Amino acid sequence: MRPTLIVGSIAFDTLHIGGQSHPKVLGGAATYASLAAAHFGPVQLVGVVGRDFPQTAVSMLRERGVDLSGLEVADGETFHWEGRYSDDLSSRETLRTDLNVFADFRPKIPTAFRATPFVMLGNMDPTLQLEVLDQVERPRFVLADTMNLWIDIRHAALTDLIKRVDMLVLNDEEARQLSGVQNLVRAAADLLALGPKTVIIKKGEHGALLFQGDEVFSLPALPLSGVADPTGAGDTFAGALIGYLARANDLSGPSLRKAVVYGSVLASFCVEGISTQRLSTATSAEVHARFERFRQLTAF
Ligand code: AMP
Repeated sequence: MRPTLIVGSIAFDTLHIGGQSHPKVLGGAATYASLAAAHFGPVQLVGVVGRDFPQTAVSMLRERGVDLSGLEVADGETFHWEGRYSDDLSSRETLRTDLNVFADFRPKIPTAFRATPFVMLGNMDPTLQLEVLDQVERPRFVLADTMNLWIDIRHAALTDLIKRVDMLVLNDEEARQLSGVQNLVRAAADLLALGPKTVIIKKGEHGALLFQGDEVFSLPALPLSGVADPTGAGDTFAGALIGYLARANDLSGPSLRKAVVYGSVLASFCVEGISTQRLSTATSAEVHARFERFRQLTAF
């Protein structure tokens, strides 16, 4: 089975959601992405944690098929992010970001991971994402995720990075901010002109749009009767998407469309539980059943 290399943040998140607080639960962009990609094949995770990172989380990731030989354990505390959601869960505010050991993180890709053909650059400083690209050996497919912070403070590095990736994944607000264009179709065209073959714009509970050349694919999110915690849905989407592509070893249009569906399937599990609880327990049968629900949802 072809592995996927995933680099990015591993965190403790403190979440304030639905009138309840969840202190220091497992989070991080690379954590969510790895758990999602692991549904499709082995995952090689590269990131940093502090000495406070629990063995239970290490064991859970290993049991799900995540190779942690690229996990650095540094002196200090694990990256901590705290956020509060609005009552309708449609928006959130960052209350604090304690970079801790993540502040000095310089990704070191183990030799055994350098030739991995499918690489996900999870959301982190684009200068670090570029450092990963300088260490890997001609990957077949590179996906990069980003966030508004880097568009604001690392615009030049982000532009350099975008030129070197195959797929850029970002949300609607970030696509508008990065391109300076309000209309998403035109924003995607401008982002494609920067270099990536494919741009995916995530619209949260409104689904996702895939742009490649003149092709557009649009998929709704699965309508759910209960959402517990949207944290990590975007990372989960991207992780499942690249995990599926690595398994299929097929970058054709139909394969990319299926990858978007699998991304949305895993994101639907992610939001049903606090932290990684539901994502980490979803079974292959459940994933398959939701894939079929998407077929019914979009058939007419
Ligand atoms: P998402 O909900 O997909 O935007 O991702 C949420 C995850 O991103 C959380 O688990 C956080 O730990 C992580 N995160 C928040 N801020 C940052 C940051 N500045 N750099 C990297 N990861 C972050």
